[in-house]
Amino acid sequence: MTLQIPFDNSYAALPPRFYTRQVAQPVSQPRLIAFNEALARDLGIATGAPEEMAAVFAGNAVPDGAAPLAQVYAGHQFGGFSPQLGDGRALLLGEVVDGQGRRRDIQLKGSGQTPYSRMGDGRAWLGPVLREYLLSEAMHKLGVPTTRALAAVLTGETVYRETPLPGAVLTRVAASHIRVGTFQYFAARRDVDGLQALYVHTRARHYPQAQTPAELLEMVIAAQARLVAKWLSLGFIHGVMNTDNTTLSGETIDYGPAAYMDIYHPVTVYSSIDAHGRYAYDNQANVIVWNMAQLATALVPLMPDTDSAIAKFTHAVHAMPAQIEAERVAAFRAKLGLSDAKDGDAALIDDLLALMHAGQADFTNTFRALSHGNARDQFTDREAYDAWHARWQARLASEDAAQALMLATNPAYIPRNHRVEEMIKAAVGGDMAPFERLLRVLSDPFTDQPDAADLAQPPLSHEVVAQTFCGT
Ligand code: AMP
Ligand code: MG
Repeated sequence: MTLQIPFDNSYAALPPRFYTRQVAQPVSQPRLIAFNEALARDLGIATGAPEEMAAVFAGNAVPDGAAPLAQVYAGHQFGGFSPQLGDGRALLLGEVVDGQGRRRDIQLKGSGQTPYSRMGDGRAWLGPVLREYLLSEAMHKLGVPTTRALAAVLTGETVYRETPLPGAVLTRVAASHIRVGTFQYFAARRDVDGLQALYVHTRARHYPQAQTPAELLEMVIAAQARLVAKWLSLGFIHGVMNTDNTTLSGETIDYGPAAYMDIYHPVTVYSSIDAHGRYAYDNQANVIVWNMAQLATALVPLMPDTDSAIAKFTHAVHAMPAQIEAERVAAFRAKLGLSDAKDGDAALIDDLLALMHAGQADFTNTFRALSHGNARDQFTDREAYDAWHARWQARLASEDAAQALMLATNPAYIPRNHRVEEMIKAAVGGDMAPFERLLRVLSDPFTDQPDAADLAQPPLSHEVVAQTFCGT
């Protein structure tokens, strides 16, 4: 094989009850349709001939050094506890240590059934594979911690959902695939040895500074507070913030029905299965606290004294809303070009958001227009905007520095839902050009690109995509 991936696997050395060793189910006609050369270089991957790449990233060939396995985990899904989930359509091929010394997982998603597939076929279709590829790469370029996309392969096989659809496999790269639900799996079984082994592994991988499970919890809470604040600052709605989709690393994972809002509306929900808005835009800050409370609960058995552990963990979880709020205000401050903190900033931000809400302003374009100094048109109540604008100008210290900060913080482009859906339709019809164009434009989201003005436009009323669906 000329394709070489410098595997250095550590998860496979954990006890056998952490996973099931498993190879992918082969597919008939693998064809590589996207490959992330820059990421491959970071990972030290030596690429090979196209057929070889297609075979490996479809799961037909096991690359040298891989130790494929399906990870087991549990999780709260929409608040209900499932004691056993796991990689039902994914396989961890192994890990590599990248150019900066960071350990990264390489995972196939859509690679066939595993013991954790339950009723599922273990497959993915092209739509969710390209959605995750595009959204995760865009998220990275927007400066937010996220899993990455290395490759996408068409399998040549049909996947049946409501209709027959082209099958595909995504190769995903992550700091790890350790989830809150991974800890919950062992806690639910009162498997303290398993919990301890997972804790030691997680600490070594993500938080080597943590001296105790309590410190690890605090570090995860800090990372997740930062992450969710970043999402809020970009109008991002994850859509399925179940505890099995919440990482210990603090990376965004599992893009399923994820979407960015166009018009600013705080209770926006896209996911078709989120009937009660549990994962609505403005509930994400509450849900992540709830998820951290579940992580805390799972960590209690690792502490020598249960009562004092509960007191300590409760304190850490209760402190989280204020942390998220501080991160949110910091993120929006930068969006307004404010490089220092002052009392009253939260009110300045929230008054702007209230005006945007009342006037149904486009979230992304309003902040971009503020950066360019031409935002007045985005508002319906111009007088109210003028009054807010005067307050903002009085607060700004140096306008030149402010503009540079704003242009580097407020993207011109996000993966707008209607464009993503349009791209998927084209790809299903065999046309990959919209995918490639979106990927290219979103690789530089903070630069106005004259030939991409259409991609900055909000949807026309007949173009609005109000619902998104899970990747299944
Ligand atoms: P998700 O919410 O998409 O992250 O998935 C929740 C659970 O369902 C995970 O355990 C997945 O492995 C499993 N799952 C989702 N889709 C499929 C599928 N097509 N086949 C088997 N398992 C699946
Ligand atoms: Mg998931």
